[in-house]
Amino acid sequence: MKATVSRYRMLAFDDKVAVAVSGGKDSVAMLHVLARLERKQPNAKLVAVTVDEGIAGYRDEALAIAAENAEKLGVPHSVVSFKELFGVTLDEIVARRKKIASAGVTSCAVCGVLRRRALNLAARKLGADKLVTAHTLDDEVQTVLLNIFHGDVWRLAKEKPFTDFVHEKFVRRIKPFCEVPERESALYALVRGVRFQSCRCPYASEALRNDVRGMLNRLEEKHAGIKFTIFSSIERIRPALELTAKEEGLGECRDCGEPSTMRVCRTCQLLKEFGKVQ
Ligand code: SF4
Repeated sequence: MKATVSRYRMLAFDDKVAVAVSGGKDSVAMLHVLARLERKQPNAKLVAVTVDEGIAGYRDEALAIAAENAEKLGVPHSVVSFKELFGVTLDEIVARRKKIASAGVTSCAVCGVLRRRALNLAARKLGADKLVTAHTLDDEVQTVLLNIFHGDVWRLAKEKPFTDFVHEKFVRRIKPFCEVPERESALYALVRGVRFQSCRCPYASEALRNDVRGMLNRLEEKHAGIKFTIFSSIERIRPALELTAKEEGLGECRDCGEPSTMRVCRTCQLLKEFGKVQ
């Protein structure tokens, strides 16, 4: 991980870093690694942020685990919820499942958009210079294929290990585990005896990502190293991809004022359709 952090120049010695901790193995392992690094950097500050999407029977345990790990490490921890930010929980949105299905989106797609917004708002409020997410090599390669399957060249170009400065309201995101296989982050958590949540989100099986994950795992078993090859290939062709993605100007959403490439951002569109308007 250290090589990835220095290659992409992800961290500065005096950064205030917000780390997104869901309570799962990857994010908890990330919190432990960063807390160790922070101790060697007296001018750096680390804070943990957990998003409570409002998923009954699942998120409560994760919140407790995230809080327990943060407390053990002496890292300040804040929780932001969909209910408080958007006036609606994910369970309430999913209850309108028929409407979601007819609009051709999955629970995970809605959740992902709202969670990204929630994390950015929380990191900005905390005055963070960087927002760390614990996406592993597996997550990154899945996202590459999903962006290709969705024909989303803009995201393919822009979703990189260290996002560019594009707007003052966007906290730059870094993914220090982007070259670390998921198995290794799990091993780290197990070896260090870290408690993490192992049960799956009840909505997880709906996502196309699951099929992509299964396909990549089968390929990796037969052709070791294929995930890393896909990751490296995209990194190499990214400069060319970015030339095509430059066209989309970033402005501010007409309704909420957050950065968006559209007149009305995706968060406001989804909330208008499935939830309470902000
Ligand atoms: Fe949200 Fe889907 Fe993850 Fe559940 S599995 S927390 S619905 S993105």
